[in-house]
Amino acid sequence: MQLNVLLLPGDGIGVEVTREARKVLEQVGRVFGHTLKISEALLGGIAIHKTGDPFPEDTRELAAEADATLMGAVGLPEFDNAPPDKRPERGLLGIRKALGVYSNLRPVRSYKALLDSSPLKNELVDGVDMIIVRELTGGVYYGTPRGISGAGLEERAVNTMTYTRGEIERIAQMAFELARKRRKKVTSVDKSNVLENSQLWRRVVVDVAKQYPDVAVDHMLVDNCAMQLVLNPKRFDVVLTENMFGDILSDEGAVLAGSIGMLPSASLGPKRPSGAWTGLYEPVHGSAPDIAGQNKANPFGAIGSVAAMLEYSFGLTREAQAVNAAVENVLNSGRVTADLKPAGKAATTSEVGDAVCEALQPARKEVGAAKS
Ligand code: NAD
Repeated sequence: MQLNVLLLPGDGIGVEVTREARKVLEQVGRVFGHTLKISEALLGGIAIHKTGDPFPEDTRELAAEADATLMGAVGLPEFDNAPPDKRPERGLLGIRKALGVYSNLRPVRSYKALLDSSPLKNELVDGVDMIIVRELTGGVYYGTPRGISGAGLEERAVNTMTYTRGEIERIAQMAFELARKRRKKVTSVDKSNVLENSQLWRRVVVDVAKQYPDVAVDHMLVDNCAMQLVLNPKRFDVVLTENMFGDILSDEGAVLAGSIGMLPSASLGPKRPSGAWTGLYEPVHGSAPDIAGQNKANPFGAIGSVAAMLEYSFGLTREAQAVNAAVENVLNSGRVTADLKPAGKAATTSEVGDAVCEALQPARKEVGAAKS
């Protein structure tokens, strides 16, 4: 199979973790006999530096042509006080909107080897396996009117949280479909005691749930959900929520996984004529300026995003499983970065990438042996 992939390393540790993700993708190509056509483009702070635009036209065109896009992270401290359209994060919102990837899937699971990396008690974390389904192209991050106007004590900022029934329906359907392949439970998270937006959200989810009588559904206010995620995380299977709530709750999920560097994500949009999802894949973390350039960032989230890409955009389930198995194998061997190993000798970002590539080798023999 030919895999036509666009890489957008972005800023800070985005560059470092994407380099490792690329190595792993190339190794998958070698081990499983796929041809790769990989291109790279600019997004975020580096794109502003080189072109003046956080989401240049060239990047937009290449992303439209690629079968799938793998992103690192964007954000540079020097843009913290820049106007909104000259900030790296505008590039991130721009590419998500341009590709129409409305459905952001963020799996959160615990690994036996990392139970002690979580600040929570082992018995709370052991066995956690949930997926956060976050609406990605609507809500307060995109709603208009927005902006800052006026001066002095009258200076005023406005954002608008807006959703249509159609936008809620399609993300809810995604959550229920996923639940059918898992433990058949959806928890829809909103703030319907205060926000009209959430009242519509809840009504639509109740309506969609009627099409899935085999899936249990419950509704939870977002403040309670923030608490339940650390009190009783194993109660969750599929968590369905809007854009900003999902952004915040999934960082909380990092506490369960042991480090934010562990979390991958897949952002899916309309299906293509081939039947594959339009996909943008990225680790959940940001550009981490505090550790950028030191070869110590955890690349597992980016590598897990490669596995998600193989599965959703290329239908290569066996290859995706092999990458996930290689990750687990390396975790078990203790070759992990400093965020997971505060004491003792930690591995570097590139050593972890190399270890995953090595661990991918035997996967083929095992698969071949099973076939013969
Ligand atoms: P962050 O995720 O970059 O970092 C939060 C903390 O987690 C830091 O201490 C960092 O060192 C650590 N961390 C993050 N990823 C890690 C990894 N892979 N390995 C080890 N440690 C890791 O969040 P932040 O500090 O709030 O934001 C920094 C910049 O990133 C900002 O400009 C922000 O806008 C941007 N950001 C971008 C994205 C994205 O590109 N999707 C997401 C979140 C934040």
